Amino acid sequence: MTSPSLHPCFLGPYGENDTLLEKLVVEFLRDHVYWRRNFHPEDPPAIPTAAAGEPAFRDFEARMRRELHTLSAALKRSVPFHSPRYIGHMVSDLLLPGLAAQFLTLPYNPNNVSLDAAPVTIDLEIKAGLQLARMFGYVDDPTRPDCAFGHLTSGGTLANFQALRLALALKAFPVALRTAAPPGLALPEDDRAAFNTTPADAIALLTAWETWLATQSPADRRQWRARLTAQRLETLGLAEFLGRHPALGSPRVFAPVTAHYSWSKGMKLMGLGRAQLELVPETGMRLDAGALDERLHDCLRNHQPVLAVVGVMGSTEFGTVDPVHELVAARERWAPLGLGFAVHVDAAWGGYLATLFREPDGRLRPLADMREEFRDFPAPEVHAAVGALHRADSITVDPHKLGYLPYGAGAFLCRDQRAMALLAEDADYVFSADTGGDYFQRFRQLGRYIPEGSKSGAAAAAVYVTHRVLPLDHENFGALPRESILATEAFRTAAARFAARLEGRLHCRIPFEPDSNLICLALNPAGNRDVGRMNRFVRALHEGLSYDPHQPLQAREFFGSMTTLRPEILGDADTARVLASLALDPATLDAGGDDDDRLVILRHTLMNPFLLDSGNGISYLELYFDYLERRATALMAVPA
Ligand SMILES: *Cc1c(COP(=O)(O)O)cnc(C)c1O
Repeated sequence: MTSPSLHPCFLGPYGENDTLLEKLVVEFLRDHVYWRRNFHPEDPPAIPTAAAGEPAFRDFEARMRRELHTLSAALKRSVPFHSPRYIGHMVSDLLLPGLAAQFLTLPYNPNNVSLDAAPVTIDLEIKAGLQLARMFGYVDDPTRPDCAFGHLTSGGTLANFQALRLALALKAFPVALRTAAPPGLALPEDDRAAFNTTPADAIALLTAWETWLATQSPADRRQWRARLTAQRLETLGLAEFLGRHPALGSPRVFAPVTAHYSWSKGMKLMGLGRAQLELVPETGMRLDAGALDERLHDCLRNHQPVLAVVGVMGSTEFGTVDPVHELVAARERWAPLGLGFAVHVDAAWGGYLATLFREPDGRLRPLADMREEFRDFPAPEVHAAVGALHRADSITVDPHKLGYLPYGAGAFLCRDQRAMALLAEDADYVFSADTGGDYFQRFRQLGRYIPEGSKSGAAAAAVYVTHRVLPLDHENFGALPRESILATEAFRTAAARFAARLEGRLHCRIPFEPDSNLICLALNPAGNRDVGRMNRFVRALHEGLSYDPHQPLQAREFFGSMTTLRPEILGDADTARVLASLALDPATLDAGGDDDDRLVILRHTLMNPFLLDSGNGISYLELYFDYLERRATALMAVPA
């Protein structure tokens, strides 16, 4: 049963909470109008009271109405994300507090690029960063120098770019500082050692440099700053910087084979090059820490610098969680040997699952307590991974995915706010002196630190208000991911029953046990051993689950998505295992057909909060498997 605590959270599949939302929108629109009227009420209205009667006014209104009606009509062809019949991509209904906060804030139009343009919402963005930091176990007390910092981005893609940018700045800073050679600071002994400083040590070096600078006269300080700036990678560019330090070489990034394609984009955009992104093999679709270690060993031997190791919390295709605890352990193990790198966690999808692991007082919840709520979530490795998030150097998380908020809300977090000084656009990396220790004062000039410029203050308000209404712990926001994990468990039960019903007619397998709420199904008609034929069968099934612009929405019973398993990603062992479980002939894989170099499978995102019986006697998961049975049976009746 859907938890009653979720009943007021959404507009609802049927628009059940329409009066609530309508009241809020009208109330706060009026409130906004009063605010306008109270700013110099002595000014006479600029638009005459009789203006609405003018022909030009009426003509304009008519045109506007016509276009809006056309738009509204066209939007009826949208994908029904809000419906429990939508189990396709990573999107669902929107949380009312966020939606209302967006509506409310839009007419004020704050621009979170800086304080001047957003006197209210810029602080909400900085606070939203602290709320998310707490969710991951980072230090969230802004009076502490090592407090975390987070800001919003247009999405996870930009947050991942920011992670690359910060890791590179931290890697290159010690090299520049060594070259500038301020006296009296303990500097790395050579370029290579400098380039292999860990992020934590680079931050310590930055702090030492700033403390030293503060002891200099204003004129000397300016001169030393200019001297350092001239040596920085951000000044010289990657080519010139590496040219001046030939012992270094291009830094490499390791990411799991499940990595989102934003990593490839980021490597290109940063000028690091796609070839420097190396994908580490998986086991069970989780990054294989042993395989990573072998690669790191090669890097050390070949003097190959490593910029970052990326772990994914909730992979885009399979919902799996990488062993973050092993990645941070690897960082600690390899640093003293001379290989320093950053650990970034791409939790764009799975980040909000951390609410389930968080006590209201901020502590990590014990595994045993969590196990009482679920059949087998979380796996001990997943609990260990989430417990290690606070040790990652930076994290990406998308409020517009499992945060159930409107698009335009991703977030980047870094463990220690002092690192952000290296990204400041005007290279004013003295914060202990003139900008003062005040955390908020410093970050209110947000535009100096972020990749973007003008940005939505309304989006920040939506994120902040939502986290206030539903604090990011298991007792509050956690009700949402709890529902979706329970739905995933119910999906697995229903899938097992479906498989049993179709035994002897259809092989139905879950190729990877999901760590979260994304679940895939591999389906192959019994007797078929040909990969190409199975793929055609699954594509035909998927056609019935995908958006068709030529048909009314109502013609679709369900919306799902699909993905493919490629042998070069899966690796030999997993490829063999999956083929065998579906009774496919390995010889037919990549045998020359158009569609036989991969396995096509169905993919389901179970984030709608009303998938389980919510008291109306309907389980959409059961309905879905009934539908799948009908479709599969009909398709199998047609000779291929
Ligand atoms: C969705 C996703 C991204 C990209 O985020 P956008 O918000 O679409 O830019 C990156 N990484 C992972 C793991 C994702 O799931």
